[in-house]
Amino acid sequence: MAARILLVEDDPTIGEVLTASLRSHAHEVVCERTGTGGLARARSSAVDLVLLDLGLPDLDGVEVCRQLRRIQPGCVLVMLTARSTEMDVVVGLEAGADDYLVKPVRLAELHARIRAHLRRGGATPGEPGICAVGDLVVDGLRHKVTVAGRELHLRPKEFDLLARLAAQPEVAHSRDELMSDVWDANWFGSTKTLDVHVAALRRRIHEGAGTGALVPRIVTVRGHGYRLELPAAGEDLPTS
Ligand code: CA
Repeated sequence: MAARILLVEDDPTIGEVLTASLRSHAHEVVCERTGTGGLARARSSAVDLVLLDLGLPDLDGVEVCRQLRRIQPGCVLVMLTARSTEMDVVVGLEAGADDYLVKPVRLAELHARIRAHLRRGGATPGEPGICAVGDLVVDGLRHKVTVAGRELHLRPKEFDLLARLAAQPEVAHSRDELMSDVWDANWFGSTKTLDVHVAALRRRIHEGAGTGALVPRIVTVRGHGYRLELPAAGEDLPTS
């Protein structure tokens, strides 16, 4: 599946290697060397996926990430980071990134991730047509989520994750199963991405629910994974 990819990378060697490799997989690639250049490019042309180096010479990578997410809400945003601290990754994911790769980037992994991100709709096992859990409705065909009739605006992977959980409410899904179904069948590396997406989903569902709506919550199943369930009668609206 070919995509329009914006690569924002200041290191010329890495930029050239990645560009050549992406083009050899039939993607359309534009490479920008600075955060300012990347943002200008994102404003002027639609892209499917952005590969964003967090260590840029002119702007803070996390801030670029936040702005890119605003400019192109529907694109897939993957951070490239040389920083190994988990904090940067978490901050970046919270700023709107869908995923991250740690440098040096392994090309096989890069292409596997890109494939997984571009494969949307219909490919998720058990993805429902329409699926309702209490007042939460996940409409896989229209790619739309509502709570008591109000639409929630979710990022692509948040939607996929919620659709996966809502397809089998009350069933505990393991972390591996969720990573493999929603992200990639051959996932390697940290699964922190999963936790950050769960946290974001909890927040969005809670904010979108308003008072009186019967909304399910994402429950942490310790040592295993997550499940979606409706609160018992009389229980307060949970946030976690
Ligand atoms: Ca850099």
